[in-house]
Amino acid sequence: MDELQQKKQMLIQTYKRFTRRELSPIDMQIDQDGMYPVGLFNKVVATGLLSTTLPREYGGAGFDFNATSDALRIMATGNASMAVTLEGHFKTIEQFIKYGNKQLNDKHLPSASQRIFAFSMTEPSGGSNPLGISTIAKKVGDDWVISGDKIMITNGGLAQVYCILCKTDDDQMAVFVVDKDMPGFSFGKKEDFIGLRGTPVGEVVLNKVRVPGYHLLGKVGQGLEIGDNAHADARVLMGAVLAGITEHALNVAVDYSKERKAMDTLLFQMQVTQEKIADIAIKRQNIVNLYRSAANNKVANKPYRELAAMAKSYGSRAAVISGDEALQILGGYGYSREYPVEHLIRDARAMELAEGTIEKMNIEITNAEIAK
Ligand SMILES: Cc1cc2nc3c(=O)[nH]c(=O)nc-3n(C[C@H](O)[C@H](O)[C@H](O)COP(=O)(O)OP(=O)(O)OC[C@H]3O[C@@H](n4cnc5c(N)ncnc54)[C@H](O)[C@@H]3O)c2cc1C
Repeated sequence: MDELQQKKQMLIQTYKRFTRRELSPIDMQIDQDGMYPVGLFNKVVATGLLSTTLPREYGGAGFDFNATSDALRIMATGNASMAVTLEGHFKTIEQFIKYGNKQLNDKHLPSASQRIFAFSMTEPSGGSNPLGISTIAKKVGDDWVISGDKIMITNGGLAQVYCILCKTDDDQMAVFVVDKDMPGFSFGKKEDFIGLRGTPVGEVVLNKVRVPGYHLLGKVGQGLEIGDNAHADARVLMGAVLAGITEHALNVAVDYSKERKAMDTLLFQMQVTQEKIADIAIKRQNIVNLYRSAANNKVANKPYRELAAMAKSYGSRAAVISGDEALQILGGYGYSREYPVEHLIRDARAMELAEGTIEKMNIEITNAEIAK
C-alpha cells in the first residue's frame, strides 16, 4: 500500500470511529430533536474533521475528493445530517481553492478547520434560476456593498463564512465572501425541514454589508460558473452521502430479515424479501460506482459534472426507493419512528432538491449527452 493509500485508510478509520462512537448511537435522537445535541459540533472540530479537504498550507489534512467522498459515505451510514453539514463546508472550501485570491484565502482558509463555510444562491423568488436573483452588490470606491436575502442555506446559522451569489450594479453575476460578524449581516428564518433534521438550514439577510474588494471570489462575471462548480462538487459528495443512506437502509433490512419470521420462515429466506434486498444492494453499488467515477475524474482533472449530476440524480431516487423497500421488509415496524428507516427516506428525499433539483440535473445530463 503506498503512502497515499495508507493516509486514506487512516482517514476512513477516523470517520468510522467517530461515526460509531458519536453519531450512530444518537442518529434517531438527532432526527427527533431536529438538531445536534450541544457539544457534538465541538467534537467534530476537535477530531479535525472540518479540515479534511483543507490544503496543508492552510493547516488542513489536504485529502482529495476520492478519499473525502468515501469518508462521507461511511459517516452517512450512521448519520446523514452530519455528513451533509460537512459536504456543505467542503464544497465551499473547494471554491476558495479554485477561485480565491491570495489575500482572501490567507485571511479565511486558516480558520476553516474551526469554522464552517457555506454557499448561498437560493432566494425567496426561487433556486432553479440563478439569473433571477435580486441580491445586489454595488461598487463603492474599492469596496462592495451587498444587500439581499438568501434562504434555505445549508449550515445557515452554524456557518461563520458565507459565499453570496450577487448581481453587480452593471448586471453581472459575482460571488462575494461575507463574514457573519460584519455590520448589516443577520440570520433569518430557520427551516423546519422533514429530513436531514440535524443539518441546520436557514436564511441569511444582508443589509448594506460592506466588504473589501478582495472579498470577490474569482472575477466579476464569473458568478454563475462558480455556482455551477459548487453544485458539481456538492453533487459528488452528496452521491456519497446517498450511498451511505442506502447502506444504512440495507443494514437495517438485512438485520431484521435474519430475525423476523413469517409463519415458520425467516424473512431473508423468502424470495419476495430477497428481491428487495438484492435491489437495495444493487442500487447501493450503482451509487458508489457513480460518485467514485465523478470523484476520480475530478481528482484527475477530467470532466466530472455530468457524472456528478448522475450520482445525485440517480442516487437520490435510488436511495428513496431503497428506503421504501426496506420499510416494506420491516412491515408495520418500518412505518414506526421506533426504527430508523422512515427517517432515511426523508433524509434521502432532500437530495432530490438541494444542490439543484432532480429535474435540473436531468436537463444538464441530457444537454451533455446531446452535445457529445
Ligand atoms: C436540504 C436543503 C438544503 C439546501 N441548501 C442550500 C444551500 O446550501 N445553498 C443554496 O443556495 N440553496 C440551498 N437549498 C435550496 C435549493 O437549492 C433549492 O430548493 C433548489 O435549487 C430549488 O429551488 P426552489 O426550491 O426555489 O424551487 P423552484 O426553483 O421554484 O422549482 C420548483 C419546481 O420547478 C422545477 N423547475 C424549475 N425550473 C425548471 C426548469 N427550467 N425545467 C424543469 N423544471 C424546473 C423544479 O425542479 C422544482 O420541481 C437547499 C434546499 C434543501 C431542501
